[in-house]
Amino acid sequence: MLILGIEDPKGNTTYVAAAFPSACGKTNLAMLIPPASQKGYKVWTIGDDIAWLRPGPDGRLWAINPENGFFGVAPGTNVQTNPNAMATIAKNTIYTNTAMTADRKPWWEGLGEPPAGLINWRGQPWDPASGEPAAHPNSRFTAPVRQCPGVSPKFDDPQGVPISAIVFGGRRASLVPLVYQALDWNHGVLVGSMLSSETTAAATGKTGVLRRDPMAMLPFCGYNMGDYFGHWLRVGAGLKRPPAIFNVNWFRRGPNREFLWPGYGENLRVLRWIVERCRGEGRAAETPLGWLPSADGIDTHGLDVTPATMQELLKVDAASWKQELKDMAEYLNRFGERLPPGISEQHRRIAQRLEKA
Ligand code: GDP
Ligand code: MN
Repeated sequence: MLILGIEDPKGNTTYVAAAFPSACGKTNLAMLIPPASQKGYKVWTIGDDIAWLRPGPDGRLWAINPENGFFGVAPGTNVQTNPNAMATIAKNTIYTNTAMTADRKPWWEGLGEPPAGLINWRGQPWDPASGEPAAHPNSRFTAPVRQCPGVSPKFDDPQGVPISAIVFGGRRASLVPLVYQALDWNHGVLVGSMLSSETTAAATGKTGVLRRDPMAMLPFCGYNMGDYFGHWLRVGAGLKRPPAIFNVNWFRRGPNREFLWPGYGENLRVLRWIVERCRGEGRAAETPLGWLPSADGIDTHGLDVTPATMQELLKVDAASWKQELKDMAEYLNRFGERLPPGISEQHRRIAQRLEKA
């Protein structure tokens, strides 16, 4: 999970933790720079990868980032895509598996025209005609969080920050709306358990393969995932003021495989709706999936996104969701007796709401 603070023009800061599987935009969201149209907003970075969450004496959930540094994917990182990351890695940085220039500086795809005399990540002279990248696609940098221009003053606070919203998200070319809000904590736990993402093999022309990754924790969970769902349900039951739970999808595609949503800095517009919802504001409509923004719920002022595209991004297609729920039921059945009844119940409720829709 990444942790960030969103400061509004009045100076109020709301803290959000977000779990996305690998390569789904955690580092970019954590370092978001508001576009010029979003005057007075500021995003503060607390972490881009790990959150430790604990109930506080006030009945809220509090989070710290246990890491001192960022560990980011180098290829594709540049001053256009992530200026804060570029500023962060200007000094005191360790690189692994990048290419190296003739004057021994790190280099990767995305930094512009490759200079002559590159050494590839294997330590051999790079042949531009080879068709192979000079830097390994998963080559990385690691640098102190403190060097990030947007680092939150609370980054090192041992109390952490109070979390108002938990956001789940993955890469889904279709079906999953841009954003929706779970009806309550237990429904949100089901939403987290349904988290899935399409592999970026799509870039090679193959269709993305759907991979289920509950709470983006599958690669890190050393015990039964059914027990882990049960833990989420128990923690929520003990919270007087549990965070609201949301799901986002920046990766919806149109008929020509183009992204329907501009993403990156413009994701602040979605974060604003999330923050408004946490404050009991924010215009929304109830659907079988949960709360979706109303047509005017997300500020699209100055965006090159048509109302028809917004409608597509915020559509709940009942027939496709029924199929998704069937697939999900098959997946959940794998956990057998370890699946908490609360999860099956939430699954059944969505199915019933879809039948009635
Ligand atoms: P992480 O592994 O979860 O930290 O993901 P990163 O932030 O490193 O991003 C992974 C990839 O997704 C990179 O190629 C980003 O450029 C891309 N990405 C991140 N945010 C967005 C977004 O909002 N929209 C789109 N289309 N791509 C994004
Ligand atoms: Mn990352």
